[in-house]
Amino acid sequence: MEINLISDTVTKPTPEMLQAMFNAKVGDDVFKQDPTVNEFERIVANLFGMEAALFFPTGTMANQTAIKLNTNPGDQIICDKWSHIHLYEAGGASFNSGVNFNLLDGKRGMITAEQVKAGINDPEFYHAPLSKMVSIENTTNKAGGACYDIEELIKIKQVCVDNNLKFHLDGARLWNAMIAKKQHPKQFGALFDTISVCFSKGMGCPIGSVLLFDAETMPKALRIRKIFGGNLRQSGYLAAAGIYALQNNINRLEDDHNRAKELGNTLQKLSWVSSVQPVETNIVVFSVVDTIEDKQVIEKLKQKGIAISLMAKNTLRMVTHLDYKQVMHEYVLDALEKIEL
Ligand SMILES: *Cc1c(COP(=O)(O)O)cnc(C)c1O
Repeated sequence: MEINLISDTVTKPTPEMLQAMFNAKVGDDVFKQDPTVNEFERIVANLFGMEAALFFPTGTMANQTAIKLNTNPGDQIICDKWSHIHLYEAGGASFNSGVNFNLLDGKRGMITAEQVKAGINDPEFYHAPLSKMVSIENTTNKAGGACYDIEELIKIKQVCVDNNLKFHLDGARLWNAMIAKKQHPKQFGALFDTISVCFSKGMGCPIGSVLLFDAETMPKALRIRKIFGGNLRQSGYLAAAGIYALQNNINRLEDDHNRAKELGNTLQKLSWVSSVQPVETNIVVFSVVDTIEDKQVIEKLKQKGIAISLMAKNTLRMVTHLDYKQVMHEYVLDALEKIEL
């Protein structure tokens, strides 16, 4: 058995999703003539109660476009120190938008309204970069899939309104957060200027992210996507996968979360595991005791056909997803208990 738990991006489209893609009516989306992309963007915008949505090839490009829309060169973004936009977008914020970061010391990748407020530079003090945008991640990636309470986000929004700051949500795994916390997309749509959501993670699509914003932002967003090289032609084939995922793959995220919790519970009992971070969604982050090498664990599991990834020294990660089925899960739980280190 080959079991890949390195990320939820490893899923392959199911036959049903492929059939939906195969059947898609397409056109040239650069002329906005692809009916399936147009429909997909409309559906996602409506779901969040936002005015407009634009399809992107990657989550990185959607986030980078949001940064470009919300800032000018020299401006400062306030976000957690572990943010994807800071750590994992190859310096794109400075390359593409000429901005810098005020990195807050959040808990499990999450920041508070109080921290944001304290992190804003006085706009009159022209020596400091102008604070322009707050970005939060939900669920948090590096921090192991933690998710925000809506109450804290409402408080952060108020700080943004009071201080004339744009509010961006990097919602690559927002679907997981909404299932775990029983929240509705419209609750998020009401709070943010820009929201990016991925379809190539828990949703099981091969490609695709969507950026949401208001109607008057569309011309500028189209221009920036063009500049970044993200205009696609008959992308309705990809949008069809997204529509399929919205209809079929959201509620089943619960299974991924339950399996992740069970993995966490099993790991907790093992003598070679020193700690397991709280499992809130589909990401399990755990540390191994000092007396063994992290690479030993990865190697032993690899011999049993199970791939997991290294996050930091002695810290490992497993991510559950659509292609991680119950039979595999039982096999992994058993393999973990039997592993000798
Ligand atoms: C995966 C991810 C992205 C975007 O990744 P792409 O690989 O570019 O689609 C953005 N933010 C977070 C938090 C992510 O986990």
